Amino acid sequence: MRIIQVDERDNVAIPTADLAPGTPMGGGLFARSYIPQGHKIAMADLREGSPVVRYGAVLGHLMQPVQAGGLISETMLRLPESPDLDGLEFGTDIVTDLPEPPVSVFEGYPVEGSPYGGTRNILGIMTTVQCVAGVLNSAVERMRKELLPLYPAVDDIVPLNHPYGCGVAIDAPDAKIPIRTLRNLLRNPNFGGELMVVGLGCEKLTVERLLEPGEISGENVIMLQDHRGYVTMTDALLEMAERKLKRLNERRRQPLPLSALCVGMQCGGSDAFSGITANPAAGYASDLLVSGGATVMFSEVTEVRDGVRQLAARCADAFVGRRLAEEMRWYDDYLRAGGVDRSANPTPGNKKGGLANIVEKAMGSIAKSGRSPVVEVLSPGERPSKRGLIYASTPAGDMVCGTCQLASGMTLQVFMTGRGTPYGLAAAPVIKVSSRSDLKDMWSDLIDVDAGVIVSGEASIREVGELLFREIVDTASGRKRPWAEKHRLHNDLCLFNPAPIT
Ligand code: CA
Repeated sequence: MRIIQVDERDNVAIPTADLAPGTPMGGGLFARSYIPQGHKIAMADLREGSPVVRYGAVLGHLMQPVQAGGLISETMLRLPESPDLDGLEFGTDIVTDLPEPPVSVFEGYPVEGSPYGGTRNILGIMTTVQCVAGVLNSAVERMRKELLPLYPAVDDIVPLNHPYGCGVAIDAPDAKIPIRTLRNLLRNPNFGGELMVVGLGCEKLTVERLLEPGEISGENVIMLQDHRGYVTMTDALLEMAERKLKRLNERRRQPLPLSALCVGMQCGGSDAFSGITANPAAGYASDLLVSGGATVMFSEVTEVRDGVRQLAARCADAFVGRRLAEEMRWYDDYLRAGGVDRSANPTPGNKKGGLANIVEKAMGSIAKSGRSPVVEVLSPGERPSKRGLIYASTPAGDMVCGTCQLASGMTLQVFMTGRGTPYGLAAAPVIKVSSRSDLKDMWSDLIDVDAGVIVSGEASIREVGELLFREIVDTASGRKRPWAEKHRLHNDLCLFNPAPIT
């Protein structure tokens, strides 16, 4: 058992295992009560109103006194105001000494007209409306049985079903978010530039809103209301799919520079160790990727909101910084309109894992962005125009963040978890990293990389970061398949739709 203090300014530490009352912790300190793994212990006598400091940041103020060695639970802390978005300073912490990556190429699929290559070769079939999902799913079942074995260079056929498309206020200002997400999603590099859209015929999300005029033809679009009955429509779907599969089957992996790689970072089911093991290791891998020319996206607004000053300082210039503040402000307003604030983020599981509040969660969460400068800020579902570290603004919900990042061009996601989640995406491989070794032991066939070895002292953040970087390159190159991909664990797409439905 050890207790871990992250920053020398911290007045709390966390134990690596459950502590029985009376357990000595060194320096004359002992546990005053049962303290669960990952929960905060006061390192000194703290008075009511004292700031509680972890990661060198004030997590909140105590609503009652706590003696040295006492447990600090989430109910004892008053949440501080979120940092002001006016008067942020931009570009004051631009790091140039990023670590060099051990390799500079991966084996991917080039895509014409796309800055990024694919990591997989998938036929993605977009829908304009949920009404067509039943027919499409049953057609895809046939395609997988009858067609896929004939085209062995194609990895999968994926229906892009979603709940949007009709019964929605399609001209509401914020409807641009789900519409843009779907438009960009069907252009994800893992779909190789092949466009296939299935619509019904009377929906609000018309094909014109998803495709360019030149792309709308019988080559790419099937409207079910134009076909006589189920058998005819599924035959038409299979025929179109086969034309696309023939072309996808001609594709071969080839060495591509890392600049053709777009990796997404996300965490979910976080605990108090996420911020000291899995996320910093992902941050190191991110720095290696960025330094090698790749694009890395990180997201999850409510989980970076409390770290906005640190991120503002890392924004490459004032324009990027102002875009960051704009996205944060939009989200503050969005939450306020729903009668909540960022404190609505942590889950019961996060709290059970020792995360007292959103400040503590955010301080651990932004570690996954490493130290690189932020070169661009995207609105949800937008495509980037730059390469490097990009803040792709999305909600923190795992499926929503995954869907938005896919739309932004992500072709592989790295997912850090402390409590454990079997999360996976059909359109891109997901590498899962555990914050604790107990989770890897329990879920050995779900977790790909164990960052818990950082706590036990078996490996450093840098070593796990390098290992993760190699895992990313091997997975992107198709030499490795993460557990979620082997088991075909595919969560549903989940659009971010802040606009009204009707
Ligand atoms: Ca998440």
